[in-house]
Amino acid sequence: MADHAALVARRERLLGRNMSLFYDDPVHLVRGEGVWLWDAEGRRYLDCYNNVPHVGHCHPRVVEAITRQASTLNTHTRYLHEGILDYVERLTATFDSSLDAAILTCTGSEANDVALRMAQAVTGKTGVIATNHTYHGNTAAVSQLSTRMPPVGGFGVHVRHVSAPDSYRPLGGEGGAAFAAAFAAEVEAAIASLQEGPHGFSALIIDPFFANEGFPDLPQGFLDKSVAAVRKAGGLVITDEVQPGFGRTGSDMWGHQRAGIVPDIVTLGKPMANGHPVGGVVANADTLNAFRKAFRYFNTFGGNPVSCAAAMAVLDVIEDEKLIENARDVGEYTRDAFKRLAQKHAIIGDVRGSGLFMGMEFVLDRTTKQPAAAQASRIVNEMRERGVLMGKIGVHQCATKIRPPMPFSRENADLMLSVFDDVLSGL
Ligand code: PMP
Repeated sequence: MADHAALVARRERLLGRNMSLFYDDPVHLVRGEGVWLWDAEGRRYLDCYNNVPHVGHCHPRVVEAITRQASTLNTHTRYLHEGILDYVERLTATFDSSLDAAILTCTGSEANDVALRMAQAVTGKTGVIATNHTYHGNTAAVSQLSTRMPPVGGFGVHVRHVSAPDSYRPLGGEGGAAFAAAFAAEVEAAIASLQEGPHGFSALIIDPFFANEGFPDLPQGFLDKSVAAVRKAGGLVITDEVQPGFGRTGSDMWGHQRAGIVPDIVTLGKPMANGHPVGGVVANADTLNAFRKAFRYFNTFGGNPVSCAAAMAVLDVIEDEKLIENARDVGEYTRDAFKRLAQKHAIIGDVRGSGLFMGMEFVLDRTTKQPAAAQASRIVNEMRERGVLMGKIGVHQCATKIRPPMPFSRENADLMLSVFDDVLSGL
């Protein structure tokens, strides 16, 4: 602990204050393998949180691909190279045929920044709609959307926020079609409001799984009415797949496919290259060319040969190790077990999620659904003390976020569940 205090002080001195850091007693990690992490004292932790090492920490095939390419060639992106072409061909084959071209970036923030400008290039407008409890990244433009880290000086007049869908406490009090209609009505009102101003309406940007919002369980077709309203107004739909992408939800490769919609622009990041910094924007070639013509975009590192080799290896592993099927199986298994635990522990108000992206909301009272935010914080910290890493999320900060590397097994789930049961029993 004393050691940690010294590291925290050094971090603050060298990197500045107010950097986010997990847990009351931060974890000092030195090694990872598969779903496991080790700290500086040699203690092992079960990783139930990290989606960046998508195919597992230090997966040997990704390490090998990076090593091989880094010892052959790495350059900026102004030369011809097959690596990026082979990768984009393979990547776009997993999308609807209308989404047939891509720009590679280094982060999800950059990808969303490019997506906003793509929508501007196509529509000639700049008004954007996002949800009111989201995070889309850290560039000046993108931080305008992110209510979780609001921009200094307030939101721009070209931004409108609509209520983040919350299946546990649905807008208007009703679930199903009424819930979807209530969300669409907010989108329609935001479009109308933007159209009255000088910026007009350009795009709706959403995470189709609403991960940062607390991943609500939404009825099939939830987004249909909203998407139709956007299209009717001449706007574009951008789906941010930084969190649900690459098969995480266990049903489809992409969150928008699971939601049953075809967006105009898709943005990618985090899990794309297992920790090597790669992001991307997938769109129709016409949309992409409109952007290239308007903005003459260049990215020194985005899509360099090493990044593409790492990203390609991730796609190989997802396929060869059947990780989407694993996410479906282990996800269902774990959620069923959580639902059984909910019968024992009244603090569990709602269990939800899909594939290996799940969690539950803690409440003080199941009837009033009063959020148990302090307890959620305590639970997550106690899990950490007992060697299981998970996170906290949601509109009310009272939901756990469980999103482990994709090779997470039933056996891993059993360990997490027994520690969890123990922690809740000791509350
Ligand atoms: N979009 C979403 C949905 C995210 O959760 C994040 C990061 N948490 C980003 C974009 C930004 O990605 P990056 O940190 O790679 O810029």
